[in-house]
Amino acid sequence: MTRNRIAAVAGILSLALAACGAPREPAEPADIPAPEVEAQFADVDTARILAAADTPQEWLTYGGNYDETRHSPLQKVNVETVERLGVAWTYDLRTARGVESTPIVVEGVMYVTSAWSVVYALEAATGEELWVHEPDVDKSVGVNACCDVVNRGVAVYDGKVYVGVIDGRLQALDAETGELIWSTVTVDQSKPYTITGAPRVVDGKVLIGNGGAELGVRGYLSAYDAATGKLVWRFYTVPNPEKQPDNAASDAVFAELANDTWGDEGAWVEDGGGGTVWDSIVYDHVGDQIIFGVGNGSPWNRTFRDPAGGDNLFLSSIVAVDAETGEYKWHFQTTPGDNWDYTATQTIILADLPLGENGETRRVAMQAPKNGFFYVIDAATGEFISGEPFVPITWATGLDENGRPVEVPTARYGTTPILQLPGALGAHNWHPMAFNPELNLAYIPAQEIPQAYAEDSRFFDDPANWNTGSDFAAGAAPDLPPGTFEAIRASLKGRLIAWDPIAQEPRWTVEHENAWNGGVLSTAGGLVFQGKLGGEFVAYDAATGEKLWAHDVKSGAASGPATFEVDGEQYVTITTGWGSAYALVAGMAYPDGVPPSVGKVVTFKLGGNEIIADAGLPMIERTPKGEDFGTTEMVAAGTVHFARHCAVCHGQLAVSSGVLPDLRWSPIAADAASWDQVVRGGALASNGMVSFAEELSEEESEAIRAYVLRQAHNATASQEAPTSDQP
Ligand code: CA
Repeated sequence: MTRNRIAAVAGILSLALAACGAPREPAEPADIPAPEVEAQFADVDTARILAAADTPQEWLTYGGNYDETRHSPLQKVNVETVERLGVAWTYDLRTARGVESTPIVVEGVMYVTSAWSVVYALEAATGEELWVHEPDVDKSVGVNACCDVVNRGVAVYDGKVYVGVIDGRLQALDAETGELIWSTVTVDQSKPYTITGAPRVVDGKVLIGNGGAELGVRGYLSAYDAATGKLVWRFYTVPNPEKQPDNAASDAVFAELANDTWGDEGAWVEDGGGGTVWDSIVYDHVGDQIIFGVGNGSPWNRTFRDPAGGDNLFLSSIVAVDAETGEYKWHFQTTPGDNWDYTATQTIILADLPLGENGETRRVAMQAPKNGFFYVIDAATGEFISGEPFVPITWATGLDENGRPVEVPTARYGTTPILQLPGALGAHNWHPMAFNPELNLAYIPAQEIPQAYAEDSRFFDDPANWNTGSDFAAGAAPDLPPGTFEAIRASLKGRLIAWDPIAQEPRWTVEHENAWNGGVLSTAGGLVFQGKLGGEFVAYDAATGEKLWAHDVKSGAASGPATFEVDGEQYVTITTGWGSAYALVAGMAYPDGVPPSVGKVVTFKLGGNEIIADAGLPMIERTPKGEDFGTTEMVAAGTVHFARHCAVCHGQLAVSSGVLPDLRWSPIAADAASWDQVVRGGALASNGMVSFAEELSEEESEAIRAYVLRQAHNATASQEAPTSDQP
């Protein structure tokens, strides 16, 4: 790759994960019909989730069971019968934003979420709507959501449904009616916190974390009383600026261990340090402990975050705390002194692996975090057992005997861009991993999305919302060298890997067409299910990776599938609507058109023959609506401002995936006054496009318009830009 191309890729793959509003709101909720089901609603307790394997007809918790294996004992759908799998029903979630929800199924009722934290209760066998709960969110908070206004699902317990709301509330709903029972604000809402993750419930306590480390917050995990919504304990993942006690469960370990891994000054003091617990939270019943994954540093670049250069506990760590009190038990830090947005929030799976010489089992925690290593650690102590890269990586040469990465000298970047694998989107992101305990194989939705990291020399001058200390405009240019799009596309790869955690090597691998694909379901029927970005929902042979079945779900499908049984019939279900971080930034990755993002629940059964309706998305005319204008200097300035302020939502190189508007084709770009009304005047704030008046002058806003129109005219002239059929 030429230097120019690397520079261009730098700008483009300084992707990250975006702050975006709301183009299309869900329709008004339908009337709430009286449910006809006689069974008790959400009659779930800890004992029942612990025994999930005994009631495989249910899908009781986000990961299917407390060990979060996403492995179902059901086997009516199996390697022999799967060819007869067809659509049983579909349900329209009425959104084009990202959908990441794994449905929960209990007593014949499915509880599922979509964008903006909307909760739906459906008859699991038919998809008939029972109730819908809209949490009444001020859509302007969408600008705080790094990676789209997604939600990964609910928890159910003792007749209630628990949902984390994008604005930081935790809510308990009546499982039968959807009525609000309690609502608790879990964050300082003056700060850019969000919640996208699914709560978990253990022994009467609801566990919830949050996100926001791209914009500057301090992370923690909280436990709330499931009946009342009162805080029981909280464990912070980074110290407060004074390194003083918080009157929290984490106080003792910070005094003993973690405070000393942070310097006394640096941007972390203002920015909160990051370390958000935005996804994986697992209950280990053997140790009666909660094991959770911690996110990246805020800002990303440690040079700015903490010039003292320490490990910065507990960033990018797996942490175990006492389930009852929240007190520290152990930790394992995957990426000491995180510098690259290498979160360790990815799926944590607990299992008993035959690691002993005579086949004795050892209880382990497994994770494939963003940094590209697959880790096996002791679940009782956090001791490192083994770790190997599951994709090509360039930032480290391996792990030492304690599991600490051996970094390459260039990894801690300066102002010259370095192209690195993995990038901030990770070798594995939020897409759930699964584990088959019969085959001892973990199934990883893996990806290669390189990123150019460069120190942002304007870091202290421009404390805008997104201020990671890594320059998103590195290498961005208004007119790209020929072949740039092809070079970028060639560098993006996605695959499903069946990983042997004992041998620490792949057993089989399936290469995908796109880098970003779906979460995984494993079943005792010998199957592995995964949705793909191109719209295929696929079943593979769990032992060999042979493709046994596929169905076009007419939308990108990224969430974790689930399976359940009603009246003896096995169903397999997935939510569609790919949205999320990659969708927002990576429109340019799709030369043949961007896969549609259509929010639906699609449920299959043997012999099902329903049709998935076409989305009927409105076509947009892909022509510039305004003249090409602006001096070279003006367009160049617009390029940089776009990369820093707009690209995380409207797409790198101004090419949108369609989840949010492609500005190149927007009529608003035709007129300077209208443009400024939106960009600086906040005219579309109710859609989530808040005013950027504090970040951008009128001149800078107009320079962005010149850049956007230049890209529109360039694309029309060269026919090089990918097409998009969505608004
Ligand atoms: Ca992050």
